[in-house]
Amino acid sequence: MSCSKPRGECPGASSYGHSLHPREETAMYDHRRLGRELELFGTDPLIGAGLPYWLPDGAAVRHSLEEYVRTVERRAGYQHVYSPVLGKRELYEISGHWSHYRGDMFPPMAPEAGDAGRDGSEQVVLRPSLCPHHAVIFRSRSRSHRELPLRMAELGGMYRSEPSGVLGGLTRVRAIQLNDAHVFCTPDQVAEEVGAALELIVRAYRALGIVPARYRLSLPGPGGKYVGSPDLWRRSTALLTDVLDGSGLAYEAAEGEAAFYGPKIDVQVADAAGRESTLSTVQVDFHQPERFDLRYVGADGAGHRPVMVHRSIVGSVERAVAHLIEQHGGAFPAWLAPTQMEVLPVSGDQVPAAEEFARRCGEPDLRVRVSGPERGSLGARIRAARLVPYQAVIGAKEAVDGKVALRLRDGRRLDPLPAGEVLERIRALVGAHSTDLWDGTA
Ligand SMILES: [Zn+2]
Repeated sequence: MSCSKPRGECPGASSYGHSLHPREETAMYDHRRLGRELELFGTDPLIGAGLPYWLPDGAAVRHSLEEYVRTVERRAGYQHVYSPVLGKRELYEISGHWSHYRGDMFPPMAPEAGDAGRDGSEQVVLRPSLCPHHAVIFRSRSRSHRELPLRMAELGGMYRSEPSGVLGGLTRVRAIQLNDAHVFCTPDQVAEEVGAALELIVRAYRALGIVPARYRLSLPGPGGKYVGSPDLWRRSTALLTDVLDGSGLAYEAAEGEAAFYGPKIDVQVADAAGRESTLSTVQVDFHQPERFDLRYVGADGAGHRPVMVHRSIVGSVERAVAHLIEQHGGAFPAWLAPTQMEVLPVSGDQVPAAEEFARRCGEPDLRVRVSGPERGSLGARIRAARLVPYQAVIGAKEAVDGKVALRLRDGRRLDPLPAGEVLERIRALVGAHSTDLWDGTA
């Protein structure tokens, strides 16, 4: 992809950047291989390239991630909406995607073509971004300045017509589930909203155990097709620069990486082979409010143009999970792990106690699995559960005492503790989205 080609999409789905190292698949952390081995996701030529399906364990990770995102967004004052994955071609003509981004969109469909008496003139497209739908929702009724900043969020589907040769795993897909949001605000509110969005990203990375490769101020480059006046670009760039400078985060400016409608802050991550891609983004946009003629009623009673801040905390769910698989080698933070607790009765006599403990794990809603002696020796079962954050060993003494001997994934072994205490402490850590397996000494 040419460096000066403007990014057309809203957050989180841009293509790989430059290769930092020669391409080599360090097999252990290749998310495609781990995804297969751990039965997280799969693909089938009959469904199609770039259209992965999620298996139960992968779906559990994804569900936890989506629930986390919705929770932090709700607490940060976002309101969630749903909007359809299809829109009329005209919607994207207005937004500018049709002229700037058509090469990455699937061809339009004409639902009524072929019906007698219809001319088939109405065309719909699979959406390449969620922004236009949200702009239309904003203007669905009159808005007062008292409603701003109005933060509208959606985990929604979007589509990209990638050539089949570049598709692979979860990182390059044709159907994308985007963690997206648009903040409609006054020009005076932009800096604070951008800063708050950046803070949400930093906090989410801490919970997810993700270490960014770098923060990037993505600017327009020579030869790119951009919309809007140079003055608006200068204003947006100055705003983002101020926020980055005030954040204390180290960042680099990069030309040719802006969206076609504005500059952005991108959070870059690197994969196992050192290739960089954008996971999260915050963008300032004066253009689409203009195109969609968005207005709010100011304190003066007159109509004013809001600014749109586009932002994504974790980018696309596909790319986020791919990165989490690679970053953790499948050993996810406990709150994300497909199986959080493996219960291991030492012998058949302890199976009833193990099942009772597993039932109690359901109360704090832990994902639990009982692995009994029919699956092999205790040592073999412990090895098989090496990616599970908590292993509860229940021998004869623990069964009688109502205790479990907890082994943590990192190798720590705890003295037997009452079952209720174990569950309470894990519930607190999982509920806080902690990356620590245990609080205190083990
Ligand atoms: Zn957007």
